[in-house]
Amino acid sequence: MKTIIEPFRIKSVEPIRVTTRSEREAKLQAAHHNLFKLHADDVLIDLLTDSGTGAMSAEQWAAMMRGDESYAGSRSFERFTNAVQNLMPFKHIIPTHQGRAAEAILMSIFAGKGHNIPSNTHFDTTRGNIEASGAFAHDLNIAEGRDGQSEHPFKGNMDLAALETFMATHGDSVPIVMITITNNAGGGQPVSLENIRVVADIARAHGRPFIIDGCRFAENAWFIKQREPGQGDRSIPEIVRDCFAVADGMTMSAKKDAFGNIGGWLALNDDGFAEQARVKLIQTEGFPTYGGLAGRDLDALAQGLTEIVDEDYLRYRVRTNEYIVERLDAMGIPVVKPAGGHAVFIDAKRWLPHIDPLHYPAHAVACRLYEIGGIRSCEIGSVMFGRQPDGSEKPAAIELVRLAFPRRTYTQSHADYVVEAFGELQSEIDTLKGFQITKEPALMRHFTCQFACC
Ligand SMILES: *Cc1c(COP(=O)(O)O)cnc(C)c1O
Repeated sequence: MKTIIEPFRIKSVEPIRVTTRSEREAKLQAAHHNLFKLHADDVLIDLLTDSGTGAMSAEQWAAMMRGDESYAGSRSFERFTNAVQNLMPFKHIIPTHQGRAAEAILMSIFAGKGHNIPSNTHFDTTRGNIEASGAFAHDLNIAEGRDGQSEHPFKGNMDLAALETFMATHGDSVPIVMITITNNAGGGQPVSLENIRVVADIARAHGRPFIIDGCRFAENAWFIKQREPGQGDRSIPEIVRDCFAVADGMTMSAKKDAFGNIGGWLALNDDGFAEQARVKLIQTEGFPTYGGLAGRDLDALAQGLTEIVDEDYLRYRVRTNEYIVERLDAMGIPVVKPAGGHAVFIDAKRWLPHIDPLHYPAHAVACRLYEIGGIRSCEIGSVMFGRQPDGSEKPAAIELVRLAFPRRTYTQSHADYVVEAFGELQSEIDTLKGFQITKEPALMRHFTCQFACC
């Protein structure tokens, strides 16, 4: 059969409240045109993020009932540790409440004033944790990764020549080497197994620990299976184990590829570093056998890790994005190709050349998409990155609209609805106007700033 179906049926439903266009226009006006300020009940299809927004399975809910809330040495911790180690063979598994808590602990050990930490592309929270320590975060993604039109199969790869030069130039100031799979900030693009192995070799040759930010490890393994020569006949767990076998540790947001609504972990092989990490964990998160989580959360993640590597799930997961990208591309709407693992990206710079970057074309698209279809997306452009530390404005390198898909939450008809809304938007594209920001905080302005139409 050619039709790729959602490989699950629905046992429990969450109604969506249908609103009219004029209602939505009023809601957006009242929210000062900031989509983060909308009430979730006023959103029909919420594609703001894939983080913690997925649907848990019946088995995960059942596992929560088995959660052991003992303060120390719970069975839940044992099940969680076994599930992680079954895929990622690290010696020490340290649970945290989210990915960023794992990063904060990692950076308390390795980062610090004047240090330089390379990655393909650091995620914002990783960069934030590095910079807060006085260290510098460097992105060494291959050039194809920044080209929305390149059809390179592994656009998340590290630029290996750039990494070699970086290690030679920065020497002792490089405490660790990192890589993010898939490359979230670069559009959910995958990293090949070969690239991971060479990066590990380079780190080892310089005597530096190699740490993987593994948030979307299962989607990455699926792309390796589909696209990397010699990997097509291997199982997803085998490929996942190979990716992590060459690393010295990992950080993880379990809100992504562990089917959790909350959770994360830090894993390390070195006994000394793990000891330091646990001391910090006790100060900031909790006792080492629960970290920042309840026993029931650990059990939900243990079960989620067995489900996320299912090939029927991954095929459907990645196909959802491909399907939308193909349909939008056929309509002549500029999309980033090939589709990433967790999100679809629209290139607003190419779609709305009549709106100046400092009048936020991607934001204009996100607002009109909400008005037309009640769909909430996220601007990744000059609203997010344009404000400089001295308060001035500079256009960002990209003006993208991101549609991030919660896991196992929406169906084919929702995807068709999104495509239809884009058709409507395309017919109105010449009427879109830019925005200006009328009120903003000093940092992270996109969450709370207010807009007015130009
Ligand atoms: C979400 C994410 C994080 C941070 O995880 P949180 O659980 O949100 O704290 C780090 N790295 C990547 C690649 C992510 O996608």
